[in-house]
Amino acid sequence: MRATIITIGDELLGGETVDTNSAYIARRLGELGVGVRSMVSVADRPEEISPVVDRAARESDLVVVTGGLGPTVDDVTKQAIALAAGRELKVDKQLLEHLEERFRDHSGVRPGVLESLAAVPEGARTLGNPVGAAAGLALTHKGTTIYVLPGVPHEMEAIFEGSIAAELKGLALDRFRKTRLVRTIGLRESVIAERLQPMMPLGGIALGYLPRTAGVDLRLTASAADEAGADSLLDEAVARIVGPLGQHVFSTEGEPLHTVVGRMLIERGMTIAIAESCTGGLVGHLLTEVAGISASLERDIVAYSNTAKAESLGVDRALIHEHGAVSAEVAEAMASGVRRLAGADLGVSTTGIAGPDGGTREKPVGLVYMGFAWEGGSQVAKNVFRGTREMVKQRAAARVLDMIRCHLLDTGA
Ligand code: AMP
Ligand code: MG
Repeated sequence: MRATIITIGDELLGGETVDTNSAYIARRLGELGVGVRSMVSVADRPEEISPVVDRAARESDLVVVTGGLGPTVDDVTKQAIALAAGRELKVDKQLLEHLEERFRDHSGVRPGVLESLAAVPEGARTLGNPVGAAAGLALTHKGTTIYVLPGVPHEMEAIFEGSIAAELKGLALDRFRKTRLVRTIGLRESVIAERLQPMMPLGGIALGYLPRTAGVDLRLTASAADEAGADSLLDEAVARIVGPLGQHVFSTEGEPLHTVVGRMLIERGMTIAIAESCTGGLVGHLLTEVAGISASLERDIVAYSNTAKAESLGVDRALIHEHGAVSAEVAEAMASGVRRLAGADLGVSTTGIAGPDGGTREKPVGLVYMGFAWEGGSQVAKNVFRGTREMVKQRAAARVLDMIRCHLLDTGA
């Protein structure tokens, strides 16, 4: 079974809005055993949309359309579908009643809006929208099911999950596809490929390399007769690739690094204090994404100037003077200083040159020292990260999080 995804909106073609709907739908269709043969974005014009829909209906077994379902003049998808399928647009009485109920308290609704929202191509079924006004639609044209969904991503997702997923599950598909993301940090793509070479090929699994700003993700896709079969292929493949990659694998379930590290800290009952210079609070921001982190995160101090490093972290001014703010010595003093002041189990720090200016020969752009202090010891990592200012910050923050993770693994704390 093969699908075409059609997304509608001038903002997609103008590059202002990234088409995340196609990605979501393609991923979910894949999980439901439906392969995607093409994706196409079209402008808000019925005469452009209609032939694309008609052609997709001829060439695919399933068509999913998103966008342009609202009541404003730029929302023309329903007219376009009606045109493609040779149907009239008619007000769906039940839908109109539902909308009147929904909008009862909004007396300022422009006349005609509800009628326009309730208009559907003849013969189309409506798919309830639990989180918005525009209902989804399902109709058959040229023997192909066409689903039409609103463009707003969370509304599209709600209708997809509420109505479409169940209908597709009932189609008794012959293959079941499932994907798992194994996430790594600290190894280049080419090194990973070399280490995994002896394991290849992984039976029944397609392996994809996805380099990210900090780390490389491995995407494993299994294809089997049913979900249990796909799961067992994936379990086997994950077990085989984790061996040669060791501690560089931080998740076999697609979780972000900060989630893994935050959970490790909370589970171990360890407290941590952070001192950030070049990452400007990013390490703390990432950890505070994790629910329950207040049990572990004591403080995050952003100390950008030399004065702040001395006053808020107790770093010796002479040390800064002698080695410079971007140095292993100062990184170490920041980490142990913040740990001491906070009375925390662990202290971490960043100090570096994020760029694009400010680099010298000895201290180039991208140079970052990351300090780590614990009861009875400390360590400093030095890296020269490549990339834009933002990438340097992200890479440094990820490296700090990874230092925490490796320490907790190594000490078995
Ligand atoms: P519409 O249903 O066309 O009125 O779209 C409503 C909102 O959803 C707009 O803010 C769009 O930018 C957004 N949107 C529409 N299509 C997509 C898409 N394919 N991916 C992500 N967002 C979208
Ligand atoms: Mg639109």
